[in-house]
Amino acid sequence: MAERFTVTTPIYYPNDRLHIGHAYTTVAADALARYHRLRGEDVFFVTGTDEHGQKIEERAAKAGKAPIAYVDEIVSDIRDLWQLLQISYDDFIRTTEPRHERVVQEIFKKLEASGDIYLSQYEGWYCTPCESFWVEGKLVDGNCPSCGGPVSRLNEESYFFRLSRYAQPLLDYIEANPGFIQPSSRRNEMISFIKQGLEDISVSRTSFRWGIPLPQDPRHIAYVWIDALTNYITACGYLQDEQRFARFWPADVHLVGKEIVRFHAIIWPAILLALGLPLPRVVYGHGWLLLGEQKMSKSRGNVIDPRQLVQRYGRDAVRYYLLREVPFGADGNYTEEALILRTNVDLANDLGNLLSRTTAMIERFTDGVVPSPSGQSELRATAEECVKKATQSLDRLQVSDGVSAVFELVRRANKYIEESAPWQLNRTGDPRLNGVLYDLAESLRIVAVLLRPFLVDAPHAIYRQLGLDSADASRLADAAWGGLRPGTRIQRGEPIFPRIDTESAAQAAEPAAASPATPEVTIDDFGRVDLRVGTILAASKVKGADRLLELTVDLGESEPRTIVSGIAEYYQPEALPGTQVVIVANLQPAKIRGIVSRGMILAGKTEEGLQIVSPREPLPPGTRIK
Ligand SMILES: [Zn+2]
Repeated sequence: MAERFTVTTPIYYPNDRLHIGHAYTTVAADALARYHRLRGEDVFFVTGTDEHGQKIEERAAKAGKAPIAYVDEIVSDIRDLWQLLQISYDDFIRTTEPRHERVVQEIFKKLEASGDIYLSQYEGWYCTPCESFWVEGKLVDGNCPSCGGPVSRLNEESYFFRLSRYAQPLLDYIEANPGFIQPSSRRNEMISFIKQGLEDISVSRTSFRWGIPLPQDPRHIAYVWIDALTNYITACGYLQDEQRFARFWPADVHLVGKEIVRFHAIIWPAILLALGLPLPRVVYGHGWLLLGEQKMSKSRGNVIDPRQLVQRYGRDAVRYYLLREVPFGADGNYTEEALILRTNVDLANDLGNLLSRTTAMIERFTDGVVPSPSGQSELRATAEECVKKATQSLDRLQVSDGVSAVFELVRRANKYIEESAPWQLNRTGDPRLNGVLYDLAESLRIVAVLLRPFLVDAPHAIYRQLGLDSADASRLADAAWGGLRPGTRIQRGEPIFPRIDTESAAQAAEPAAASPATPEVTIDDFGRVDLRVGTILAASKVKGADRLLELTVDLGESEPRTIVSGIAEYYQPEALPGTQVVIVANLQPAKIRGIVSRGMILAGKTEEGLQIVSPREPLPPGTRIK
């Protein structure tokens, strides 16, 4: 029997339309699910909605609707969004479904029987938007420490879950299972949080009615912890289908935003321990997609609607951007400019052009038929390396590394076109032509297989243009070199990623110059700029641009970088090779005068002119500057 893989997203709160931050988590979970299906595993991917609570009750009342009618509409909208982004979930669980309500009630009975819940009183402050209860000392200027909004006084009877009982078992578990909470920074946060001591938590409410009544005391409604977190085991079949439950639980990955790691890495495992159930293998807290350095949230009014982006740029562009842009785990900044740039540089330019050039050359030089490979291939080793890197990254949940590994093959293949110049081989009747064209087409086929976890339309389009049936690319084994049969008739088509027109990007060519009043940055802000020593290998003027030079710079990476720099008025290109420079190495690529520039060189600018910054003594290319 195949291995199985269970992955979950948080269940979303249907009080409003979802934004790009929710899409980020869900697309990432989808990529993992698709990857494990590609591996031939028995995958269970669950997402859903957390539909109870005071806030929904209030919103529905304000809208003059019954709560269920109110959430039904939003839930249908959420399903439409996932359809639009082709989220391949196997189950969509709603906490208002009878299957879940039964499970929650059974859990309350079990926890009462085991002495894990008890009736008591609590007093304190409650933030409705955050659905969080705060003790007096945690308030900031009398407001909610999480959102800064007003809080209201609460004093009510409540059932409590004995979270305090599980502090030590949790610490023991986290220690014995180093991969349980990822990335490790979140693990350390959780350990120190638990070590401060865990207080019992309130798990019922009498202040609203929209929820699941407790079987032992129906005046009480189950509060979010036991109501929402338990969705994961309901979906896997807990107390409904023991065989199915044994097949899909424990989950392999709970993918969550970092703000709810605590719930998933402390409260949820404690509930599972109390129920005598195995704990999830990994709780992964990814970073936030920030907008202008702020977390996106409806209450801040700074949300981006993924539907509009999909309409404007296509779902693969949006999926690619979300998966590629931010190193998984870290925070990243959302900008539409970056999305456009990623689409134009990686998808339209690198991938799209590779496909259209390759199919055009096969059409012209070998009558539209894939020729036979030659004995040795220049691209095979790179392709095999990329398969390995992509799979290893995804095995470690490093989604952004996984997708960028695929593009290493794309870039290598593009470079190979320049190096081997098939048009010249064709002109001179050089027998190497066939091997070159085969290698390019085969690399594209492998790229299409490797892209299947990430993109949903492009892999099929690539297969079609290569004259293949994309149903034949549904297993990771299809990414093995040599799968393309000579004699296959290609089907040239439209560009798979049309370029998005934009006027931005040009200023990225300006060398960094001090401006009079720059705001202070923290050491962490500075740490996000990757400054490296590079050695200029070649320099030439950019046609039609008096101020620009195209530089080829060795940064100690597998390939030198192309960097377009606005220094042509101050430096002769022939004087530059051998010069060491300082490069902003993690600057977003920019297309300048048709050239993709990957980085920026530092220079000082005065009235007299401009001077490149160089190390005092030569340093190895790639040396990090701190
Ligand atoms: Zn709040």
